[in-house]
Amino acid sequence: MKRMFMAMLSTETNTFSPIPTGPNIWRDMLLVRRSDPPAEAPPLLQAARALIDKRAEERGWEIAEGLFAFAQPAGLTPRAYYEELRDDLLSDLRAAMPVDGVLLMLHGAMVAEGYDDCEGDILARVRELVGPDVPVGAELDLHCHVTDRMVEQATALVGYKEYPHVDIMDRMLELFTILADAAEGVVTPVISTFKCRMIGLFPTTREPLRSLVDEFTALEGRDGVLNVWLGHGFPYGDVPDLGSTMVVVTDGDPALGEELAKQMGRKFFELREQVQVPARTLADCLDLAVAASEGPITIADTPDNAGGGAPNDSTFFLAAMLERGIENAAIGPLWDPTAVEICQDAGVGARLSLRIGGKLGPSSGDPVDVVVTVVGLCDELENSLGGVGMSMGAAVGIKVHLPNDSNIAPEAGIDLVLTARRGQGFSPSLFSSVGIDPEQKQILVVKSTQHFHAGFAPISKQVLYAGDLGALPGDMLKIPLERADTSRLWPFVENPHAD
Ligand SMILES: [Zn+2]
Repeated sequence: MKRMFMAMLSTETNTFSPIPTGPNIWRDMLLVRRSDPPAEAPPLLQAARALIDKRAEERGWEIAEGLFAFAQPAGLTPRAYYEELRDDLLSDLRAAMPVDGVLLMLHGAMVAEGYDDCEGDILARVRELVGPDVPVGAELDLHCHVTDRMVEQATALVGYKEYPHVDIMDRMLELFTILADAAEGVVTPVISTFKCRMIGLFPTTREPLRSLVDEFTALEGRDGVLNVWLGHGFPYGDVPDLGSTMVVVTDGDPALGEELAKQMGRKFFELREQVQVPARTLADCLDLAVAASEGPITIADTPDNAGGGAPNDSTFFLAAMLERGIENAAIGPLWDPTAVEICQDAGVGARLSLRIGGKLGPSSGDPVDVVVTVVGLCDELENSLGGVGMSMGAAVGIKVHLPNDSNIAPEAGIDLVLTARRGQGFSPSLFSSVGIDPEQKQILVVKSTQHFHAGFAPISKQVLYAGDLGALPGDMLKIPLERADTSRLWPFVENPHAD
């Protein structure tokens, strides 16, 4: 029976974030080591395991599992800790050898101290262990920096196609098929790339990108085209390889791969003005949401998206809404473990004074001092993307009372979800798990850039994106990039393809 080694070491690194991606953050999200005592696997691992085991069995393969580690995005992973996790993965591989293939679930934008390109480093070390003939593939988040080293060391790279990332499991299975076919001599994968020389955030739920994704996906399965995807890049990762990349994997036809990568990549570049997140200011979003005749209007607080490494405790929306006297609104999730503990101890129904958020730095705004009532508690907040639960830990729902003004009813206020663990909002269940009914609200503010869209668009009359206040500026020109070569990137230069 042929054997596929499978492991995960993945996080997206915001090189500007003050929060180190250290052991606590890895443990909080997903960290399963071979040396750990057996325990119930986290939902993400369970979902991956069920699908891959079935696919492997159908083809007469077995899976040998190694390290599974995924961290909520934050700043650089400390050098020693990165090396510890990486070496764990490598020793798991050594223990599983001989293997017929290696399938790695990586990110593509992981940066550790001393390592700009963690994925290139991991792939090179894996390649060194298994030799040139064993297929080695990586599944990547589309927010990745595709480097030459990754392309040289891997047999195949398969990235997500969708933002929101609802296709993680589908892409994993596709990669398995390519690697198994390669091991069985059915195909000879070759990776071709085209650098689009642009940065931005590009939702695939909107036109014209939706149609472009469908167009390049339709190339797969004919003329020896095995896989086509677009690496969007991650603009808050200041590394030399920052930028969007079109990737085509063919069956031994680099000329065709290069031609298609260039054709699709140029097409994407031509759409650069139209494919961005249509971000407005916070003030404009609130104006529009208040004026709307029917709700819910969902506003994405994109600059405080933990998924992009933001602090997740910013108070700009809360403060502005209190100032405007807005009611019938809910905000979540906001990371404040101390406030969560206080509310847990006070219990449901308790009314108390509370200081909320604004702790991580200037990009979090100021803490807000308010009187609140606890409306709901839970030990594990339900929050899922594409049907896969993302661990958020304990949470509380509170009613933040408006400043006591004779014109405003004392129970009026804004509902808020506070969490003990940093994380972005994916699904409306993040509100309902703590006693808040999102569908009854006029305004929903969700801390997320685009993943919220899968869950919230179906219950929203309109979706708006706020991009001005917080750690992740929606305006790419405001990101203080130093190591990325902005002289060859749009929008820093008008036509980076001119030379
Ligand atoms: Zn991503």
